[in-house]
Amino acid sequence: MAKSTTTSKKKAPGTAIKINKHKHTHDISAGLQSSFGFDQFKGRQEEAIHSLLDGHDTFIIMPTGGGKSLCYQLPAMMLEGSAIIVSPLIALMKNQVDLVRGYSENENVAHFLNSSLNKSQIKTVRDDLTAGKTKLLYVAPETLTKQENIDFFKSIKISFFAVDEAHCISEWGHDFRPEYRRLREMMDMINPDLPVIALTATATPKVQSDIIKNLGLKDPNIYISSFNRKNLYYEIQPKVKLDQTIKSIVRFISQNKGKSGIIYTLNRKTTEELADILNANNIKAVAYHAGLDAKLRASRQDAFLKEDVQVIVATIAFGMGIDKPDIRFVIHYNVPKSIENYYQETGRAGRDGLEGKCILYYSHKDVAKLEHLMRDKPLSEREVGAQLINETLAFVETSVCRRKVLMHYFGEEWHDENCGQCDNCLNPKEKIEAKIEAVQVLKVVQALDERFNIDYCVNVLTGRQTPTVTMYRHEQLPVFGIGKEQDAHFWNSLIRQMLLEDILRKDIEDYGVLKFTPKAEKFLKKPVSFKIVLNNNYDDAIADDEETDTGGGGAHSTDEHLFEMLKDLRQKEAKKKSLPPF
Ligand code: ADP
Ligand code: MG
Ligand code: ZN
Repeated sequence: MAKSTTTSKKKAPGTAIKINKHKHTHDISAGLQSSFGFDQFKGRQEEAIHSLLDGHDTFIIMPTGGGKSLCYQLPAMMLEGSAIIVSPLIALMKNQVDLVRGYSENENVAHFLNSSLNKSQIKTVRDDLTAGKTKLLYVAPETLTKQENIDFFKSIKISFFAVDEAHCISEWGHDFRPEYRRLREMMDMINPDLPVIALTATATPKVQSDIIKNLGLKDPNIYISSFNRKNLYYEIQPKVKLDQTIKSIVRFISQNKGKSGIIYTLNRKTTEELADILNANNIKAVAYHAGLDAKLRASRQDAFLKEDVQVIVATIAFGMGIDKPDIRFVIHYNVPKSIENYYQETGRAGRDGLEGKCILYYSHKDVAKLEHLMRDKPLSEREVGAQLINETLAFVETSVCRRKVLMHYFGEEWHDENCGQCDNCLNPKEKIEAKIEAVQVLKVVQALDERFNIDYCVNVLTGRQTPTVTMYRHEQLPVFGIGKEQDAHFWNSLIRQMLLEDILRKDIEDYGVLKFTPKAEKFLKKPVSFKIVLNNNYDDAIADDEETDTGGGGAHSTDEHLFEMLKDLRQKEAKKKSLPPF
């Protein structure tokens, strides 16, 4: 049943997995200065650029804003021929091309090729490529699938391939695009010997191994930067009653006058309604979602960037490629569908290294909504989705340092006990000794041959005789029910903390089966103190939420409530012409 593991630990940030002395003869510092006007490389740019210039497949994993683009832009300028850069969003391509052109006297230095161009524009691009004037060509993955384009690319000199936002290749990432899966095939048709540089801000080990596998990177040099965003403050609040939540948001934004922020919501209607409510409370806000026409989206995005409005209330359609360094807060009105999404979305705050507050409002109703949204997806996608949601819930409900959980999720070790920049660290809960219970968990995992997931282990610990337990006759195991003094909540919390401390690990490719780590063997032989924090906050939130939302239409009731509030506001507005703030 168990497949090979994928949870291998990443090298600590700042360590190259492989260091090569470079063979090429380019002066990249001079190039950095002459082509881009920068004096110094950022992070691991220099090593990565050497790697690519030496002809190695190269994999760059850096958080957003880390300066990934330069890792292909500079080599593209220095090498003979044109680099092909695959990028997922047509809207971003123009932006990127404009940026590169801004560094050069030669307009033809960068072009893009995608479905938005007409025939004569395509001809210009091709002519410039054939004449060798173009160093960077941005393409959509679809562009590469067209035979006529492949034939054309075979006729010109290509320096290398760059795959930006490479996580799009993995369904475990936060933005899966099936077309990315065909890239290796296309690159092989054009020229299988060219080096490939893949770039992503996604740090989960699973996504990384997917990228290497699917792009067929050959013994790549991998450069990873730390994903910790030390200036971001993380807080999670229970979403108790809806009007309270909205009041709390209004209060928070009012206290942050003049500071730009994003509110993320799950559905389109909610963006409009929340924006209306904010405006009614003298907070300038606009809604943004994929259902708006392109012009309106562009003008609203612009209004936000230029600070004509303070807040943009958006679905996840907003944000990729947005470069506003001074976003001061990101509020999640609904729980995001993965930790990865949460990290990317909150990551848009405080790009300039200054204050960035990230607040998430959590209710279990939102989880039901997320699950509801997946109902029509194929089974495999639903399974992946369900696991990602479970991880998110573990993050939301934890009493452990949020940063520690995030970093652990991204495969980074995090030893700092108190980060001082998250709700759990600022209000630490009392810790209880759970040495004996941790041993009990290990005994159960062992008795089950490391072949079952958390929920199942908890059933065995608490002695719950489910149909599956009966089927496997696990009620006859000596360990069955050894933990019945504690409830499932306790065991879940303990196991999650054992995962965080690397005493256990979860095999995500194998249905989240719990496995021993080397630490587990040691712990069993010689148990040491293991203190954990328990959190019951969200149980209350769940109970309250259920009370206030009786008889609602399941997955959509919360929004209907919001709609009612809005109708109320509008009626008042009609009566008084001006609205009282909350
Ligand atoms: P990413 O793709 O990793 O999110 P970008 O490539 O968009 O990041 O770069 C983020 C910003 O950093 C850009 O404004 C870019 O001009 C700047 N930048 C990149 N490298 C350097 C450098 N060596 N020195 C100064 N600024 C840099
Ligand atoms: Mg980028
Ligand atoms: Zn913390």
